[in-house]
Amino acid sequence: MADLQQIIDGIFSDLAPRLGEGKVADYIPQLACVDPKQFGISIATVDGHHYSAGDAAVPFSLQSISKVFMLTLALGKIGEAVWKRVGREPSGSAFNSIVQLEHEHGIPRNPFINAGAIAIADIVLAGSQPREAIGEYLRFLQMLSDDDSIYIDEKVARSETATGFRNYALAQFMRSFGNIEHSADHVLGLYFHQCAIGISCSQLARAGLFLAADGRNPLTGHSIVSAKRARRINALMLTCGHYDGSGDFAYHVGLPGKSGVGGGILAVAPGRASIAVWSPGLNRVGNSLLGSEALEMLATRTGWSVFAAH
Ligand code: GLN
Repeated sequence: MADLQQIIDGIFSDLAPRLGEGKVADYIPQLACVDPKQFGISIATVDGHHYSAGDAAVPFSLQSISKVFMLTLALGKIGEAVWKRVGREPSGSAFNSIVQLEHEHGIPRNPFINAGAIAIADIVLAGSQPREAIGEYLRFLQMLSDDDSIYIDEKVARSETATGFRNYALAQFMRSFGNIEHSADHVLGLYFHQCAIGISCSQLARAGLFLAADGRNPLTGHSIVSAKRARRINALMLTCGHYDGSGDFAYHVGLPGKSGVGGGILAVAPGRASIAVWSPGLNRVGNSLLGSEALEMLATRTGWSVFAAH
């Protein structure tokens, strides 16, 4: 295998002529202000190396990638009881869909669609005020990436609060089934702030490293979750991390991954590395267009697919 730095430099130059492709999310007005012609990629390896190319140091909006870290916190708080509140099956529907909730009595299909993430936020909120839970979550991300400059972009949080009608509907609908305990304002206060994190590819790759290393952060030596739990979070990322594009992502890339409408994707190559890519233009199902292609190139050029014989 060629040197990883050469591989990602090659991916960046192959994609450079296409920067700006895809459609930037504009249903959250503040996200529409982002320059679409940006692309960053960063790889943190379990043996302590770090490789970056493009705009890997530019902070972007974490959005739904936050759902992986909030699930980790919720599992830490109440363990397997999480699965009484959300399922573990791919939804085959859009990330913000409400349709399955009625048939399934307010239990969302999985923790990575919006409804599921709102139920997870409700779990993390238990026993705290929203601002305490937001602080706990922010510190968790800073600890994982060993970087205190990760921040919450209040403009993005306010923009979502002002326009997140569908998320309010999801929270109220689940509350009618008894699957949300806190007021919609409190639970969505946490949810919108978790999504509004400003983070760079370089920071995100480090934050996800524990998922590639049996639950341990190999750089700091901290044990974050058990090996079994890391494996299970990876399984959910593979099956549900890209909404109704999850099958396609598994087919083309073959790595557990979680996307966000800010254009970021966190992917995990178990035993090898954590990879963060970012490019704001999205494909039809709301996943980064060039980010997905970059990961396909990376998986092909490294042979890192979890479906390959290693
Ligand atoms: N905050 C976004 C929303 O609730 C997250 C969606 C996403 O990244 N897919 O719509």
